[in-house]
Amino acid sequence: MSTSLIAGGIALLLAVGLVVTLGLMSLLSGAFHFLFMRPGVDFLKPKNRETGFAFVFRWDSSREPARFDRIKLRLFNPFGSPTQVDISQEFQGQGSSFAHEVDFGEGMKAFWNAKGFDDALVQIEVMAIRDGLTHQFEMKGAKFKEKFHGASTSVEAWKEKNKKEKEKVLYHTVERSFIADPLPETNKTLKLATNPVFAADFAAAGAAGAGAAAADNNFAVSKVWIEPGCIVCDACEGIFPEVFEVQADTCVIRADAPLTNGLLIQEAAEACPVEVIKFAK
Ligand code: SF4
Repeated sequence: MSTSLIAGGIALLLAVGLVVTLGLMSLLSGAFHFLFMRPGVDFLKPKNRETGFAFVFRWDSSREPARFDRIKLRLFNPFGSPTQVDISQEFQGQGSSFAHEVDFGEGMKAFWNAKGFDDALVQIEVMAIRDGLTHQFEMKGAKFKEKFHGASTSVEAWKEKNKKEKEKVLYHTVERSFIADPLPETNKTLKLATNPVFAADFAAAGAAGAGAAAADNNFAVSKVWIEPGCIVCDACEGIFPEVFEVQADTCVIRADAPLTNGLLIQEAAEACPVEVIKFAK
């Protein structure tokens, strides 16, 4: 057998060994994460056992960076009454495992007082609203009750025991950035009462007439949203601040955004340099 053939065989064996080792390491890492680092919720003792709920949410924030800021308790009670209770509350976002206490008020009383509670299904959802992440945990009502009443550590005691030097600041990186070429020449203009080009049209109809003309041209949208890729240039908020809110790393639609002025939303969408504003009429 020639020397080069032997060398080729050894190289092939080494390559196969390397691939197998890497595969095994990846499998072991996945298994370790699955077994020991899965997100979880632990119960803590609330100050007010009638209306409060105290918990620890732990997850691997290095693998899944997010700021969790909402908790929801949901009781599925198909054979009892009421058949469903949903209570939720937002809180200040937390970027790594944390303890928190919420007071659900009357909602928590309705949750506890549901007939058939023990046999119902309780879902605990911890959400990172802006990051679009939700972790859900389920258990029988009886188990939930047992954990709730068995909790003996308060939020303060948990925080004291798990003191962190300083919470790491999470930075969200913008997905796309670019230097725009000058916009091509266009003769496209929106017929808006606020656009000086059309001042004469609207003035001719008088103040009331102008309003009517604008209303005639206007339309309502059923939905407006921002797709990934916002470069936080502020253009949309400058045009329609009641709808668009530019935040540190993206733009969001305000919760109470008026959707009746479709023309102004369209103007903002056309002004968006990366065309991430979408709407449906
Ligand atoms: S105009 Fe577009 S890119 Fe600029 S802030 Fe609004 S959504 Fe983001």
